[in-house]
Amino acid sequence: MKNLMLAGVSALCLLALPVAAAEIDAAKIADHIKVLSSDAFEGRGPNTPGEVKTVEYITRQFQAVGLKPGGDLKNGVRAWTQDVPLARFDTKGPVKVEVNTGAGVQAWTQGEEIAIRAASTGIDHLTVQNAPIVFVGYGVTAPERNWDDFKGQDLKGKVALVLINDPDFETGQGDFAGKAMTYYGRWTYKFEEAARRGAIGFLVIHETAPASYGWATVKNSNTNTIFDVVRADPSKSHAPLEGWVQRDKVVELFKASGLDFETAKKVAQTRDFTPVTLKATFSTDYAVAVEKIVSKNVVGLLPGTKRPNETVIYSAHWDHLGVGLPDARGDKIYNGAQDNASGTSMLIEIARAFAKAPRTERSVAFLSVTAEEKGLLGSEYYASNPLYPLATTAGVINMDGVSPFGPAKDFTTSGDAPLTLQDDLIALALTHGKTYAPDPRPGAGSFFRSDHFPFAKVGVPAISFGAGRDLVNGGKAAGDKASEDYVTNRYHQPADEYSDSWDLSGASQDGLMLFELGSQLANSSRWPSWKAGSEFKLKRDETTTQRK
Ligand SMILES: [Zn+2]
Repeated sequence: MKNLMLAGVSALCLLALPVAAAEIDAAKIADHIKVLSSDAFEGRGPNTPGEVKTVEYITRQFQAVGLKPGGDLKNGVRAWTQDVPLARFDTKGPVKVEVNTGAGVQAWTQGEEIAIRAASTGIDHLTVQNAPIVFVGYGVTAPERNWDDFKGQDLKGKVALVLINDPDFETGQGDFAGKAMTYYGRWTYKFEEAARRGAIGFLVIHETAPASYGWATVKNSNTNTIFDVVRADPSKSHAPLEGWVQRDKVVELFKASGLDFETAKKVAQTRDFTPVTLKATFSTDYAVAVEKIVSKNVVGLLPGTKRPNETVIYSAHWDHLGVGLPDARGDKIYNGAQDNASGTSMLIEIARAFAKAPRTERSVAFLSVTAEEKGLLGSEYYASNPLYPLATTAGVINMDGVSPFGPAKDFTTSGDAPLTLQDDLIALALTHGKTYAPDPRPGAGSFFRSDHFPFAKVGVPAISFGAGRDLVNGGKAAGDKASEDYVTNRYHQPADEYSDSWDLSGASQDGLMLFELGSQLANSSRWPSWKAGSEFKLKRDETTTQRK
């Protein structure tokens, strides 16, 4: 491993790099954070007066540092923003659910036995009568792993029960990264597969260990308002019915069919699994209220000198939670200083460093995305409606939260990407005296919870940078303590505010490192790639001929 890393370092050093004079100014980062997280910006909720101020501020800064507008193309002229049409969905009135096992009809209560999401298909009323129920195991179609749970089973007009996480989570070893979660394990994947299969819908069977959270989380996040981007054809992304069901209820359905749930699950952990039709049918009836809003991504661009159609993207979400329930101090403004006024500020300062340096061969885009807190929607919208071709987007470097705790001896990425771009960053970091600290909880799926992910899903090499915890002053103990304090006392709370005690010198070092990573990529003709076996590689490979 050591030799490989050293080889990586020397390869990087051979590239001719116009990066010598670059600097990321900690004081400037602090100035932006103070403004963006001030009460005047009202927590930067999408589609609020706080959005107007935020978009205006970022646009002004992008313009001041010397970027060109990189957003929507209107009459041959680029705007500073990309319109992001969003829809919010709420179930209206009672959600009626009945399951008939032949031995009788049982009613399931929304929020208790079942948690049905307000459908994002645009259907305003869903009625299902006695649909067959089929158990589809983990619901995985993974050609690169020679795995297919469906075996040709037609799911049209049916409701499927699907296990959460991936087939080797329980055994800890197999073709799906063991305890670490591949995308096949994520609930969003299961629902996307439901749409691809043309099913009425999938119900995810909730089990605490493989989900990594309890029923309360499932209930709160699924019976609440659901946001989505407005899609040209929603049925391609969403089946009419999406929901979760308690494990106990599923065990009962298996029993009523003369089957044992745990035995069926064991079979589902093998390639030989075939779908099981239960002796039960599913009925439901509920209405959905839909409201449409438009938010904005802010986009600045520095066109490339030699290959302007090839792009390197830096991204950070500008939105936070807006105004909400008051905390113990009576504060209702969720300022989001660390999350993510800080990453937005870093984005502006990296843009400044690029604008000061000689233009790069490839174009560099600075993408300040909206609605991350509503489910990565600004980045999802960009990845579905790209302003610059995805096939020739060389890489995406995302930032969500910079460290206010001073310099660290390490850094991390969200979910340890199986990607050569991450290797490049690891090698580059060594020249800055920083080592890579892998994600301590790979099973929790943090790779799928940051704005780089919608890009990864469509094959674009993408990573989210994370500040290190092994602090120069105080080591790992101090770093762990500081970040636990943040998670407990400030994360997603009104107290996530700027403090004069912050030390952004570590953020400035990290920013310089990220600037160099993108600068090298933008001055090379390299195409970072997913490693063999990665679930995103096939998607990227579809467009290989478009990359020279
Ligand atoms: Zn964030």
